[in-house]
Amino acid sequence: MTRTPLFDTHCHLDFPPFQDDIGGHIDLARQHQVERILIPSVGPSNWLTITNLATQYPNLYFALGIHPHFIRQDPQVMLQQLEKVLADTSQHTHLVAIGECGLDFTVDTPAEIQEQNTDSSARTGE
Ligand SMILES: [Zn+2]
Repeated sequence: MTRTPLFDTHCHLDFPPFQDDIGGHIDLARQHQVERILIPSVGPSNWLTITNLATQYPNLYFALGIHPHFIRQDPQVMLQQLEKVLADTSQHTHLVAIGECGLDFTVDTPAEIQEQNTDSSARTGE
């Protein structure tokens, strides 16, 4: 029987407890037919880390964005940083999405700022 390969579209492989043995976790995922994995970023703090991981491991893909929980400073400044890193990374063949971004009403970031971040992130990805 042929098994359909799977693509995990949201796995924070750069977070504990994965970070001590990322290669081992990728191997374990493959044993369960997960052939490709997308790592979403949370903000500037992990943009470089996940870009490097996607460079190191050929079956890893990544998304750059700003999660509402990680809006720590002026949202416009963060969006300018996102635009710059997207421009700097645009030739990386494993950069496949903007994210993560969206609305999360369990965090303290005001809804208006989250909506602005989401709209601007979406426009940045165009
Ligand atoms: Zn996430």
